[in-house]
Amino acid sequence: MKVEIITLFPEFFNGVFNHSILKRAIDSGALEYIIHDLRDYTTDKHHQADDFRFGGGAGMLLKPEPLFAVLSEIVDNVKPRPLVIYPTPQGIPFSQDIADDLSKQVHVIFICGHYKGIDQRVVDRWVDREYSIGDYVLTGGEIAVTAMVDAAIRMKPGVLGDIDSARSDSFRNNFLDCPHFTRPEELDGLKVPGVLLSGHHLNIETWRRITSEYLTKRRRKDILTDSNTIQG
Ligand code: SAM
Repeated sequence: MKVEIITLFPEFFNGVFNHSILKRAIDSGALEYIIHDLRDYTTDKHHQADDFRFGGGAGMLLKPEPLFAVLSEIVDNVKPRPLVIYPTPQGIPFSQDIADDLSKQVHVIFICGHYKGIDQRVVDRWVDREYSIGDYVLTGGEIAVTAMVDAAIRMKPGVLGDIDSARSDSFRNNFLDCPHFTRPEELDGLKVPGVLLSGHHLNIETWRRITSEYLTKRRRKDILTDSNTIQG
């Protein structure tokens, strides 16, 4: 998967792509990334990438011309056309299903907004999808892009050590994951549930499903469906 990121803060991604799963994905060839510094596409001597908003009001906006310049360079004439994503609080909620879909894309371009966001004409002309990573407002799109790329790339075959682990994570089958324990069996008076030490696979599986459902009902009724509710 090839990912290109347009940002005012290219240095933000130095650390991000040098650790953990994203680094492993790059090393294995599952992920290739290119960072585009938006200031390189400005034409004035101060490399100004923002401007006041028409209509007035507090907050600057990313100018459309540098974004048009970089997008025409990296989207036009590229075949197949890359998917262009703009992370924004106004987008539809990013989800595990979307992450799964993203992991199957060959070439994705992300535009990181800043200040009040980006000129709407950039969205109208270039953007295919707008996603929000939550009902809160971040300073810029860099963290949102990182979250989306991380969630997508861990779904690519070979990136995680054990893909079965991801298959039992939260939001699979519309459940939250159950609690997990490792050694020691007792710590500071806190014991691991006996069933997990029993070696009885069916009972362990049942305990995990019941605790998953319990947590989901208590915290995220919105993701439960009739088909995944354990009866009885
Ligand atoms: N004026 C925008 C609004 O109220 O919807 C907020 C702009 S925000 C300060 C600057 C940039 O951060 C956005 O253009 C977007 O790229 C990114 N951003 C902020 N919150 C986000 C979220 N919840 N999901 C995805 N991107 C977000």
